[in-house]
Amino acid sequence: MPYPLTKSRLMTGLSCQKALWLSIHKPEVATPQSEAQNLRFILGNQIGERAREAFPEGILLEYDENVAKAIALTREAIEYGFPTLFEATFSTGTVFCRVDILTKLPDDSWHLIEVKSSKSVKDHYITDLALQAYVLKEQGLNLKKYSLHLLNGDHRCPNFGTLFVEHDVTKQVNARLPLIEQNITDLRAVLNQESEPDVLIGSHCKNPYACAFKDYCWQPLGKTIFHLPNFRGKQKDELIERRIVKLDHIPEDLPLTANAQTNVDLLLKEQIKIDTNAIQQELESLRYPLYFFDFETFGDPIPRFEGLGPYQQYPFQFSCHVLDAEGELEHHEYLHQDSYDPRIALTEAMLDVLKNQCLKEQVLKEQGTIIAYYATFEQSIIKGLADSLPQYAAELSNLLPRFWDQLLIFKKHYKHHGFMGSNSIKSVLPVIVPELSYKDLEVGNGEAAQYVWWRMIDTDDLEEKTRLRDGLLEYCKLDTLAMVEIHKHLNSL
Ligand code: SF4
Repeated sequence: MPYPLTKSRLMTGLSCQKALWLSIHKPEVATPQSEAQNLRFILGNQIGERAREAFPEGILLEYDENVAKAIALTREAIEYGFPTLFEATFSTGTVFCRVDILTKLPDDSWHLIEVKSSKSVKDHYITDLALQAYVLKEQGLNLKKYSLHLLNGDHRCPNFGTLFVEHDVTKQVNARLPLIEQNITDLRAVLNQESEPDVLIGSHCKNPYACAFKDYCWQPLGKTIFHLPNFRGKQKDELIERRIVKLDHIPEDLPLTANAQTNVDLLLKEQIKIDTNAIQQELESLRYPLYFFDFETFGDPIPRFEGLGPYQQYPFQFSCHVLDAEGELEHHEYLHQDSYDPRIALTEAMLDVLKNQCLKEQVLKEQGTIIAYYATFEQSIIKGLADSLPQYAAELSNLLPRFWDQLLIFKKHYKHHGFMGSNSIKSVLPVIVPELSYKDLEVGNGEAAQYVWWRMIDTDDLEEKTRLRDGLLEYCKLDTLAMVEIHKHLNSL
């Protein structure tokens, strides 16, 4: 009995044969879906529902786990003459798929539409449509047109009718179709193998999809060329071609660029390189009180608030630790807890903290340095607020030159093998301030924070709301406390 192949399994296999094999033969080694992935799935469904609104004559064939039943229902709907079907199910007997939208053209042929939560056409979307087209054609459907309905980057809430843009990809799909049958045959052969395919790790582990088997494949390899910052291009390609990914397997006859060699040595020889003079000079530019500041943001694919476009980020939370010259620390925070637009309330709370901070009865106006980790992001959010809220634009713009980026210290002057080639605060903190950890927190990273916020504003269960709120407050507070502790560490060098 051949393994049943769904469209998503085939797409996985076309990206990595090993991932397909593992998904059938060793599914237990997959990392469970993250909260961010759950959120993407939910938001993706919302986009699908919204796209259907353009076809008021369409009927939704409700999801049924019983594939035979779903196929029979689709057949009935077609025979009955419905002009537009949502979530129709088709099967060749061994490969099955559900299609987002199938609608009749004037000449009675069919137009197959795939809805994606992206703003641009990607190559794997063409393969996705070609796979569906293969299955539908095998079932005798006369398909003439293939389209992608993607989010329109120019759409602004609350305009109606501009959320989606249709991209006619008929030519590209027709060009890909002849390859599909062979692709399926090849992937079937892979599934029949006794042992897992020998596939090297690479960029396909993250693109086009984050692979669920990344921990399984990557962790045993330890330090690899993918841990080298800014290592790309010809040299990397050459190593991959020679199937060399582990750092300690790089042959001596392959001269690396100076930068790559420095990073290889750092990781392999477990070096620590700190330019204390340069760090000291950077720290001298800071002006007290120091505001350690961090936003948590959300970007709805279907924008909810006025003036926002798809995925445009807006803040729903901030944390700010304020450190004065005598070493006294205060904490301020804001978390938006309702489903209405957070921007005004958050901006007022933020300006209150950053613009007019009282410490030890001394009124300090607009003078302290605002420290962020990857400050460009916080600055971009503030610029976005200034654009949407003209009444605060001047005060918000005044904040921008006060930012100082703690990340740059680690990019330029502080290298540690323990960071494993990353400068993110999640990589730096456990090495230099091991007693502070995100590990035991309910919310462990920014993507999880988005999901938790989304759930918090949606739930009517007060107990659940409180639990989620506390998790968010704890997480964001740790982000800025981490910066304070890193700052103290840098000062002590
Ligand atoms: S982690 Fe990479 S190599 Fe391993 S199965 Fe996934 S895509 Fe393939």
